[in-house]
Amino acid sequence: MSKPVILCVDDERMILSSLKSQLQNNLMAGYKIELAESGEEALEIIEELCENQTEVPLVIVDQIMGGMYGDELLAQIKDRLPKTLGIMLTGQASADSVGNAVNKADLFRYISKPWDEDDFILTVKTALQSYYHQKKLVRQDCYQNALNKILQFVLHPRAFNDQLSDVLTVILNAPDFSELKKGSIFIESLGQIGPDHPEFEMIAAQNHEDDPDNLHHENKLEDFKKIEPQIQLISRSNANCYYQAPIVLPESSLSGSIMGVLYLYVSPSHCESQQAKSFLSSVCHTIAGMIRLAQYNLAIEHHSFKLEELVEKRTTELHHALDVQAKQNNVLLKTNKELEYYATTDELTGLLNRRCFFERADHEAYRSQRYERLMVLAMLDLDFFKTVNDEYGHQAGDTVLNEIAKVISDNVRDHDVVGRVGGEEFAIVMPETNAQGGKELCERIRQAIADTRVKVGPHTISVSTSIGVTALRENETGICAAMSRADQALYDSKRKGRNLISLDYEA
Ligand code: GH3
Ligand code: MG
Ligand code: MG
Repeated sequence: MSKPVILCVDDERMILSSLKSQLQNNLMAGYKIELAESGEEALEIIEELCENQTEVPLVIVDQIMGGMYGDELLAQIKDRLPKTLGIMLTGQASADSVGNAVNKADLFRYISKPWDEDDFILTVKTALQSYYHQKKLVRQDCYQNALNKILQFVLHPRAFNDQLSDVLTVILNAPDFSELKKGSIFIESLGQIGPDHPEFEMIAAQNHEDDPDNLHHENKLEDFKKIEPQIQLISRSNANCYYQAPIVLPESSLSGSIMGVLYLYVSPSHCESQQAKSFLSSVCHTIAGMIRLAQYNLAIEHHSFKLEELVEKRTTELHHALDVQAKQNNVLLKTNKELEYYATTDELTGLLNRRCFFERADHEAYRSQRYERLMVLAMLDLDFFKTVNDEYGHQAGDTVLNEIAKVISDNVRDHDVVGRVGGEEFAIVMPETNAQGGKELCERIRQAIADTRVKVGPHTISVSTSIGVTALRENETGICAAMSRADQALYDSKRKGRNLISLDYEA
């Protein structure tokens, strides 16, 4: 890159050569001194310098010249090179022209002829310092803006690859990189890191296809692991000059912790810049943070998936267990119902068995007593039933018992309680019934049994029944006493000839 130029403009050659020798004697060799004898010539030189992209930090102009005046020249240079500083050097300048130069051309300093060399050189050095300081500030501002944009991407995350492509675009628009806009980002695999994922992966790139060193295709994990943890400017050939910036988290600077690499190409004339390196360092820390965040998000996603799978598996197991439980419960319920049936029911006739009948009868007696209601109890015993068994067999006897049970059930009311309390003995509790009503109901039953013909094979069997009836008495809260009285009445019926109804003496 060509040296920055200090342009001196004066229509007197003597002055120009004096300026040149003073500048050359006092400034480092880092500047080239160009001379112009008129404003017009100066503008031509400026044009040429701009085309060559040569920097012009400072212009020293005379005010009164043939042709274009100094203030006008400075104003025109300002339009073309806004950052270039101007020093005006003249003996006859009016306050107007100085004011003009200050306002329009941002004049840095005014020095009157004849000038003091020390004062002149000090002014030039101060101007150069100010120019470079200003330039640095502007660059810093650009870098800061770029960093802010990148941080915005972190705050509004999208798909990771898109995010890093945008980051690369922002970096390549920053000073030093905007000329070639060529670079790439390699990062370690986002998933599990280990031997299964031996390579860094190029996740974002711009204009890297024409890479003469084929950098992006040759780099394998081993090469990346060898990368120095510092940012380096690598110049492989005149046309291939790039910054290699390792992506690490701020707290870790060991080479083992390199999570990726950022390659950014610069023009071959680029001088290593501390400012660019600090910018890249911040960018790399930010990218490292983004990588970690993406890795954590991926791990969380993975775990949630596993968790969902586990929950699903457990839910299925639970449903299965509940199904089994429900089936077992149904079996248990059925068994309980069966048990209850067998515990309360007489197997042959389906009537209440003896134990259950006494429980229900006791309960009815208690209820009648408590609410002062009437209640009747009847005991039935089939007549000469032994003979039925003897004549037709025990099984035929069973059939008859079953039929008689149905006849009794068919003739009582819904709320009456009927039980088989012995072999061929039945009992009926009739709530809400007085002795007369009870007797009438029993009469109906007696008649119905006597009228019944039971067909068993070729035989038609008929039986009769003797009945004893009693009513619940005051203060009887159980069925026991009434049972004895009904039994006694039944015995009377038997004694009087059977197929009869007897009431106990009070009923
Ligand atoms: P009565 O009561 O009129 O004095 O004469 P009975 O012959 O009915 O009297 P007893 O008490 O002597 O006999 C009752 C008979 O009832 C005896 C038995 O053979 C019969 N019996 C009792 N339980 C069953 C049963 O479950 N099935 C059958 N088939 N017969 C039964
Ligand atoms: Mg009997
Ligand atoms: Mg009998």
